[in-house]
Amino acid sequence: MEMKKGMRALSVILVLLLVSVIVVPAVSADGNILSMDNQINSGAIFEIPDYTHDLQTNVSSSDKTMESLSNEYGPLNIASTVERYDIVQFREINLKTDQKNLLKVTIYGIEYNMNLERMDFEDIDDGIDSYSGSIDGIDDSIAIFTFDKNLVHGSLQLQDEFLFISPVQNRENSLKTDMPLHVVYSSQDMKQPEKPFKIDSDRLLPPEIALSETDISSFGSESVELTRGWATVYVLVATDDEFIALESNWVSTAQQYMAQAAYQYQRPDIQVFLNVAGYDASKSGILSGDNRLISDPLGLFFDTFEPSYLDGKNADIAIYLGGNDKSGSEQGGSWGYSCYDDPDHPGWHDYCRYAWSQMVADVDTIDLYDGSYHARVFCIIHEIGHIFNADHENTGGYNQACCWFEGVVPKYTVMNSCYYGSNFHTWEYSSLDYHGDSTHDNARAIELVKGDISSLV
Ligand SMILES: [Zn+2]
Repeated sequence: MEMKKGMRALSVILVLLLVSVIVVPAVSADGNILSMDNQINSGAIFEIPDYTHDLQTNVSSSDKTMESLSNEYGPLNIASTVERYDIVQFREINLKTDQKNLLKVTIYGIEYNMNLERMDFEDIDDGIDSYSGSIDGIDDSIAIFTFDKNLVHGSLQLQDEFLFISPVQNRENSLKTDMPLHVVYSSQDMKQPEKPFKIDSDRLLPPEIALSETDISSFGSESVELTRGWATVYVLVATDDEFIALESNWVSTAQQYMAQAAYQYQRPDIQVFLNVAGYDASKSGILSGDNRLISDPLGLFFDTFEPSYLDGKNADIAIYLGGNDKSGSEQGGSWGYSCYDDPDHPGWHDYCRYAWSQMVADVDTIDLYDGSYHARVFCIIHEIGHIFNADHENTGGYNQACCWFEGVVPKYTVMNSCYYGSNFHTWEYSSLDYHGDSTHDNARAIELVKGDISSLV
């Protein structure tokens, strides 16, 4: 398009002189025409040509491929709901951190340009960087990627499907493999939940015992005026030994998920910089050595990462990415913003700073919460949303979750209390600007309290 606009500004003579040249941009501006010359018949769902090696494409979860790969590469961490996938490897990709990048990719064999620009939600010098952008020629596409040497994490939101790219070996085996294995799959190749399930409690109350120990005099002292414009909220991301062992590198996994959350918070109607204060594994052994990790992970998290610890890390809020399956059907928890200014319980103030999100499948809701990429991101954005006073559906007030129909397909925003799977659930909050109305407006709730949350430290 830019080439065509430029041409309009040229004189007629110059246009005539350039006639033989304009054929090239006219063709390259049209993805379909371009694709005829560049179709790559590898059968792969997604590739970054020159950087991707397809180990096995079009694998069915019912065939023996997973078994033979596991014999060679160790157990592969693929959600049970993924029915068809590719296994690929990546060479290290070095993008420019200070300017826009144009990366050639193929989607189902058709070549596209993917625009990526470094995201600014964290500034940790660990060689792991996240990028957001879009695919040229695909309207409303959203690309979010994290590159960590030869590990690639990605999600591509297309018109009616998601593509997911994730490292798939555990920590131990990934370190032993020169080019670690990745899984690539589409939301359309996932088994969807047969019935929805509740992700967490409507309202979780802090433990009574903590009430008497909390300094109630501090309540409200940091309350600030409604913030106009941007607010910056620092998040400490913590985990346990099991999640560290499960992931090829838990830090780049966590960073990719926080990139997904930061993307939602940076939307124009929310305007929150959700910045990572740090990826904290220093207490992973303490979390993993406590039985409450199964019975009460959120309470354990609070006691292990007490408010003064968060203060010392300059973290307003904290989220625990849990590598264990909590007993019972919940996969996430947070006490929420209602603790921040509860006039009857001023001692609950600091509880609003904590959230827990389960990263593994829930055996109590088998095939429902599958611990897949989509479910994990949903759970993280949902629980952080409670901290910012975003609420479930049917709770009254203005800050409720939203449901709408696209044709006959029901769609749900991220704060819906039940998880419906990747084909039905978005990662968006309800909002007047995209999906919502005056009584289904999570974005307004976040806008109203972001000044309070950003002033916690
Ligand atoms: Zn909830």
